[in-house]
Formats: sequence, C-alpha cells, structure tokens
Amino acid sequence: MLIGVPLETAAGETRVAVTPETAKKYVAQGHTVLVQTGAGVAASITDAAFEAAGARIVDRAEALGAELVLKVQRPSAEELALMKPGTALVGMLNPFDKPGLTAMAAAGLTSFALEAAPRTTRAQSMDVLSSQANIAGYKAVIMAADRYQKFFPMLMTAAGTVKAARVVILGVGVAGLQAIATAKRLGAVIEASDVRPSVKEQVESLGAKFIDVAFETAEEKEAAEGVGGYARPMPASWLERQKIEVAKRVAAADVVISTALIPGRAAPVLITEEMVKAMKPGSVIIDIAAGKGPAGHDGNCPLTEAGRTVTKHGVHIVGETNLPGLVAADASALYARNVLDFLKLVLPKDGGFQVPMDDDIVAACLMTQAGDVKKA
Ligand code: NAD
Repeated sequence: MLIGVPLETAAGETRVAVTPETAKKYVAQGHTVLVQTGAGVAASITDAAFEAAGARIVDRAEALGAELVLKVQRPSAEELALMKPGTALVGMLNPFDKPGLTAMAAAGLTSFALEAAPRTTRAQSMDVLSSQANIAGYKAVIMAADRYQKFFPMLMTAAGTVKAARVVILGVGVAGLQAIATAKRLGAVIEASDVRPSVKEQVESLGAKFIDVAFETAEEKEAAEGVGGYARPMPASWLERQKIEVAKRVAAADVVISTALIPGRAAPVLITEEMVKAMKPGSVIIDIAAGKGPAGHDGNCPLTEAGRTVTKHGVHIVGETNLPGLVAADASALYARNVLDFLKLVLPKDGGFQVPMDDDIVAACLMTQAGDVKKA
C-alpha cells in the first residue's frame, strides 16, 4: 500500500505522523512510505533519516495522493483537494467538528479519528489523547517553572530559606496526573481538584493533596461518576461549593495548571476573574484547556487568550493550545507509535486495507466512509 505523510501546515503544528522507527516497520510489512520533503524537520527528523529507514521523500501532491494518508491534524481544504476519493486517512480529526467531518465525507475519504478510540486496555497503545495529554501535563509544569520568578523546591541556603512553590492542579485526567508528577519532581507542594472522586487515590499516591468537595445529593453523586471514565457537567450546587474550595487554594497558589475538559462540550470555567485578582503578582496560570472554553471564553479561565501569554492583574496566563507540539520529537514518536498500532487493525499483515466494523476500536474511530459521516 502507498502510505503518504504530508508536512503538517496548521499554525504551530510541529509534529509528524510517522518517524523513521515506524516508517521502517511499514516498509518491512511491504508498504511504500512517501514522506513529504521536510515533514519531520520541526520534530528534528531529517529527510535523510526517513530515507535511511526506507521511506521515499516526495513532494506534497505525491504524499497526499497516496492510498493511505497519515496526519496529525485534520486536513485543510488545500489538502482535501489533493486527496483522491477513496483515500484512507488516519489522524486526530476532531470527532466533534461536524463541518470538518462533512468536508472529509464530501472528499470521499475513509477517515479514522484516533481521539475517538475507547479508553479500554486493548486500545491503550493507540490512545492519542493519553500520549499527547501526558506530554501537555509535563510541558505545562516546565513552562510554569520557566515563567515563575521563584524556585519550585524548598531550599535552605546560607542566605536564608526559600519556600516551596504551591501548585494547584484543576482536572486530574492524564494531563493533570503528569502535571502533579512533574511538579512533585521539582519539589512543589501540590493540591488538586477533580469532579471524579475516583482520582483522589491517584492524587494522593503521587504525593499531592486532593481538594475534597462532598456530594450532597444523589444527582451530584451520579453526575460525578461520569460516563466511560469521562466527566459529565456537574450540577450548579456542587460547582458552587467546588468554586469556594478552589478559590481558597488559588489565592494561596504560585502556579495553577488547569486541564478540566468534558468531551464534546465547552471546558468548564473554574478560575474566575475574581480568583485571578486574588492571586499574588507574578503567579502563573497555565490553561491547558485554552481554545476549548465556552463562547467568549478561551479555556478554564475567562481571561485566557488562546495561543497567547497575557499578564492580567499581575498574573501571567499562558494560553498555549498545542503543548505537545512544543515537545515535538517525543510527541511525534509516541503519536507515530499510536498510529502504527491502530493500523494493525485496518491493515493486517496478511491482507489488504479493510474496515472490520466488528472491532469496537475501528467502529468507534471511523468518521466518514463512501461519502457519509458515520458519527453524529
Ligand atoms: P479529559 O482530558 O477529558 O479531562 C481532564 C479532567 O478534567 C478529567 O479528569 C475530568 O474529570 C476533569 N474535569 C472535568 N470537569 C471538571 C470540573 N468542573 N472540575 C474539575 N475537574 C474537572 O480527561 P482524560 O485525561 O482524557 O481522562 C479521561 C478518563 O479516561 C479518565 O477516567 C482516565 O482515567 C481515563 N483513561 C483511561 C485509559 C484506559 O483505560 N486505557 C487511558 C487514559 C485515560
């Protein structure tokens, strides 16, 4: 099969969907890998490294003209125009973006969005949300440490003692857990909040304190259980009590890292302008939900500006929307392995391309086929 890998052209996208490691495996399976010139450069992978792995370096039209195209982000209109009807496409295609899905269907693509894979043990090795959120959580802490004008660890020096930084993590999914682990390695004192009570144990096992907000009604308890491990919108009564507890911690915090998301919905607003005003000058907020907030808001904080770092009320608010892209080499390496594992389901060793709908992962990821959008 001809497998094409174009250069990603979305603003700020540095990742690439194939690495020399995975290209070599596709070639060993008898496929031809066509990589656009320069596709790996932003991730520190040279054309020569791809060639050494057995890939062919081609121009954009040839990469996008392949039978199977591997991408990081959803294709642009320019890319769709270069892809032939019937082409198979694998990437992070945003399953909740209806116009995007409609455009891929109209282009006649058989497309698979890897973000839609179920969070099951079998799907773990192709779980792009986890591989990339893990990097986002790590990089968020590194960026915060870089911006913050004080130490993270407690230090006892001849010139006096320096207090450890207080870090608050809001939302303890994959990114939040990695943020806790990374901040802990740097010596911070950490508190974390999540709607799902099941994460309390994980938070504590990483050496952080869980901000407990009791569930007072059956409705609150049921909402907190979520669906398939994901959070659901919480009743206003619980959110109001959470806000009071979070506000106290945020006022005392040096760094806040917010990661709270609800699939298919706008990210909840957890850090209000009042809370920002109460923070110490020089404090840092890294809003990993930047770009995913409700209309008129950019993330978990209404003052966040997606794609920018702003200073408001003396607090630095980082609205970077592609944190994994700032760790491009490892983000690409992990993403490319996720893609390789997914392809084993649709491109088995002993057969051609197929779409086995009895496979729950394939069925969940299939977005468009034969001109139709398969997902609502
Ligand atoms: P996510 O990115 O969808 O959301 C981040 C976090 O925000 C979640 O923990 C969510 O509960 C939290 N959140 C939402 N609203 C909030 C609010 N108002 N206040 C505070 N926190 C709020 O989450 P994710 O990292 O994609 O993880 C989602 C689930 O998938 C988790 O249960 C995780 O354990 C699970 N998971 C399972 C597997 C697997 O079994 N293969 C792999 C990875 C993740």
